[in-house]
Amino acid sequence: GLHLPQRVRHHAAERPDSPAVTWGNTTLTNAEFDQRTTRIATALSALASGRGARVGALLRMRLEGAECFVAAAKAELVFVPLNWRLPAAEAATIAVDAALEVLIVEAEFAETAEAVREALPGLVVVLVDRASEEILPEAWTWDRLAASGSDTDPRLGDDPDAELLQLYTSGTTGAPKGVVATHRNIHNEPKALAIYRWRADSVALDALPLFHIAGAGWLSTCLSAGVHVVLLGAFDARHVADLVERHRITHAFLVPSAIQMLLDLRGLGDRDLSSLQLIAYGSAPVTPALLRRAIDRLGCAFVQRYGMTETTGSVSALTAEDHDPAGDRTYLLRSAGKPMPGVEVAIRDVATGADLPAGVSGEIVCRSRNNVAGYWRRPDETAQLFTPDGFLRTGDTGHLDDDGYLYVTDRVKDMIITGGENVYPIEVESVLAEHPAVAEVAVIGVPDRTWGEAVTAVIRVAEGALPTAAELVAFSAGRLASYKKPRHIHFVTALPRNAGGKVLKRRLRDELGGSEV
Ligand code: AMP
Ligand code: MG
Repeated sequence: GLHLPQRVRHHAAERPDSPAVTWGNTTLTNAEFDQRTTRIATALSALASGRGARVGALLRMRLEGAECFVAAAKAELVFVPLNWRLPAAEAATIAVDAALEVLIVEAEFAETAEAVREALPGLVVVLVDRASEEILPEAWTWDRLAASGSDTDPRLGDDPDAELLQLYTSGTTGAPKGVVATHRNIHNEPKALAIYRWRADSVALDALPLFHIAGAGWLSTCLSAGVHVVLLGAFDARHVADLVERHRITHAFLVPSAIQMLLDLRGLGDRDLSSLQLIAYGSAPVTPALLRRAIDRLGCAFVQRYGMTETTGSVSALTAEDHDPAGDRTYLLRSAGKPMPGVEVAIRDVATGADLPAGVSGEIVCRSRNNVAGYWRRPDETAQLFTPDGFLRTGDTGHLDDDGYLYVTDRVKDMIITGGENVYPIEVESVLAEHPAVAEVAVIGVPDRTWGEAVTAVIRVAEGALPTAAELVAFSAGRLASYKKPRHIHFVTALPRNAGGKVLKRRLRDELGGSEV
């Protein structure tokens, strides 16, 4: 079988003594990981009301998070990792929405856990570290939980339509919604796994939080492939370099801002990152300038993924072969690649829903087994997510070229309309990123009396550089149609980003645009 619990059992049977998961100084072999997750699966089943019950977590990326994910899958419980960056009240609202029965917590987030427990009186709290026992009395501990389980695998989790993961979308508009994924959705086709060029001795790094599909998805990809996965609790470029050196990491998934931080790491030249074979990246737009720098400095293969929480896996991928900065297809560095096997992609007119031909921009829609059935207890939003013919509306704009490559331009709602013309921020961002004084840039539209919206660039300057706004506008003017060049430039020390590496454009618009109209 190919589903996550079956893959874990398979690797335990085939290669019991190979390392499965490392976190800090702890490494579990395939056999140990299989046994631990069975114990926790049976223990969680005993605590919860039955199949489909929701088990939440307030955990950084750590061993217990990986164990809980697989244990829930084995028991046909639904794992709900919560964003621990949320204020306690918001986390409690989500916990109530999900109707959590169990919550796995680490000490650092005890305060949030307390708020969740107040909102959900029947909740069973399980602590993963000792330090929190004084803060949250009457809670279970992870060790006690594991000890209470049995070694008999419940042998569930083989039903492709069983739900296994519920993630809350970043909620850039409206209340956060629970996206419910089944085994069928999360499932990694062998063909899809092949783009990562796994080998028997691959060592993968997962440094993204579980509450983002990139973190949970990459973990399930690595565990399905049966490679050794090393977990990093909080992204930090220095720790990434340390782990690569220490474990001879061959594969990593990094969001573009993480790649940027790694390249900016002081003393990078003295680090031995030669074990890196392939970096998978995605989750947010990337500029060709950053990609070329990464290819040049890190010298490994790169694979881009484009997808969203609602599509679980990748909609499209730019393969390692397609990353050829020296060849005659360098324009491909602007592309998010071709649709993954089994995924249909179409471009539709936003207003009429009509299919658009190659070269014409519209909303990206897709249909595949990886698309979720919908949102948890939100029939109206679920209905809006799909077209009448069953394609999922991504909310992204883009186009396909004559060879079938997809270009993601922007979120439909981030597109700027200035003087009646459409401007895609990524195009302006890509130009500004070519300027040596620009370390990072985000382009937004701010309300403008004359133009409706004015193209505005928010820039973090490269260390030691002192560009003027006029210089950057002149640089853009030579490379962009006049209406696309920035009318305002703001210099900042950091761009606001969420844990998934996405720039919080709505926050930038609120901060920079509020007073204009
Ligand atoms: P989320 O649901 O939080 O995973 O966000 C999904 C969104 O991230 C997509 O709809 C895109 O707007 C953006 N995104 C993901 N991957 C890429 C990519 N490779 N290039 C550009 N944007 C991306
Ligand atoms: Mg989303």
